[in-house]
Amino acid sequence: MINPDKTALIIGAGIAGSSLAYQLAKRNYQVTLLDENNQHEIEIFQNKAAMISPHFMLNNPKYNSLMSKASKYAYDLTKEFNYPKEDALMEGVIKLYENDMADRLIERIVSIGLEKADFKYLSKDLIKKKYGIENKAGILFKYAGWVSPNKICSSLINHKNIKFIPKKKAKKISYKNNLWIANCDDSNKYAASNLILCNSFALNEISLFKDIDLKKNRGQINWLPSKKKHGSTEIISDSGYLIPDVSGFDVFGSTYDRDNENKNLSMTDFDKNLKTYQKFSGDKIKENDISNAGWVGWRAVTPDRTPYVGQLLRLKMASKSFYKRWLWIQRLYISAIYIKVLSLTDRRITDIY
Ligand SMILES: Cc1cc2nc3c(=O)[nH]c(=O)nc-3n(C[C@H](O)[C@H](O)[C@H](O)COP(=O)(O)OP(=O)(O)OC[C@H]3O[C@@H](n4cnc5c(N)ncnc54)[C@H](O)[C@@H]3O)c2cc1C
Repeated sequence: MINPDKTALIIGAGIAGSSLAYQLAKRNYQVTLLDENNQHEIEIFQNKAAMISPHFMLNNPKYNSLMSKASKYAYDLTKEFNYPKEDALMEGVIKLYENDMADRLIERIVSIGLEKADFKYLSKDLIKKKYGIENKAGILFKYAGWVSPNKICSSLINHKNIKFIPKKKAKKISYKNNLWIANCDDSNKYAASNLILCNSFALNEISLFKDIDLKKNRGQINWLPSKKKHGSTEIISDSGYLIPDVSGFDVFGSTYDRDNENKNLSMTDFDKNLKTYQKFSGDKIKENDISNAGWVGWRAVTPDRTPYVGQLLRLKMASKSFYKRWLWIQRLYISAIYIKVLSLTDRRITDIY
C-alpha cells in the first residue's frame, strides 16, 4: 500500500529532477516526474557532456562546502551505476588560476574539510611544461570528470517507483487537503504530499514564483571530431573548458550571455569557444576547417550567482502583535541551480529524506 506521506511530485526531468527522483525512489517514495518535453527532447540531453567539478569562491565557506559535496555526490553516483566510459568518465578536472589564487583557494578548501588526497596542486612551471600555458597554476580535483546528461538522467529515472510523464507543462501550483497540486497547461492535474520544483530558469513562469529575480543566461558549447593525438583524458578548465574524447568528440566551451534568446548556434560564440580549444589543445585548427556543431542552452542566474536549493519559508505575522516569524512551508521545495531567493534557507533538498 502507498504511504500517502511518501509521495512526491517533481517538476522538471533535467539533471536535478532525475537525480532527486532516483534518491526518493530508493527511499520508497512514489515519484511522479513531469517534464514539458518528450524524454528524448529534453534540452540538456542535447549536451554531449557536462563537466562535473567543484567551483570554489574565496570568501564563501558554505558555498564551497556545498560544491565539494555536490561534486562528490555526482562522482559516487557514476560509480554506483558503473557507467561505461562512453557515458561518464571521472578522471579528474584541472582548474587553472592566475597569480596566487590557487594557493589561496587551497587554504580555504582545506578549512572546509577537503582532504589533501582529494586534490593536487600543480605549479606554474608544471602547467607551462605540460600544456604550454603561461602564468597559471592549477589544482587537479579528483572527484571530477564529465557525464552524458542523457545517459545519466535516463538511467536514474528507470526505477519502479518513478512514473515519468512527458509533455506536461506545470503552470500553477496549489495546496489542498494535505496535497500539493500542479495544474498543467493541458488542464491535467497531478498531486502528491511533497512537491519539488526542479525546472531551473523556468521557475518564475509558475504563478507563485513570478516575482523571483531570476535571469536566463545563454550558453553555447561546441564539439569537433576528436584528434586523440594528445592522448590525455584530463579536462582542463579556467574561464572555458575542454573535455577530450567524448565518444569520439572533443567538447569545448562555454559562453555566457545575458538577455539573449537566440536558440541558434552563433558564429561569434563559436570563435570564442575555438580560442579555448586552441589554448588547451595547442592545436591551431582554423575556423574554416571545421563546422559550427554544438549546443545552445540556458542557465538560471540569480543576482549573486549563489546556488540555492531547499524548503521554502513564509513570513507569518503573529496575531495582535508586530512580531513576525518565519515558518517552513510544509513539503514544498525548489532546486534551481544558481537561484537564491530571499525566502529560502540554506537547507538542502537532502533534508527531506
Ligand atoms: C552551454 C551550457 C553548458 C553547460 N555546461 C555545464 C557543465 O559542463 N557542467 C555543469 O555542471 N553545468 C553546465 N551547465 C549548466 C547546467 O546545464 C545546468 O546547471 C543544469 O542543466 C541545471 O539542471 P536542472 O535539472 O536544474 O535544470 P535543467 O537541466 O534545465 O532541467 C529543467 C527541466 O525542467 C523542464 N521544465 C521547465 N519548466 C517546466 C514546467 N513548467 N513544467 C514541466 N517541466 C518544465 C525543462 O523541460 C527541463 O527538462 C551548462 C549550461 C549551458 C547552457
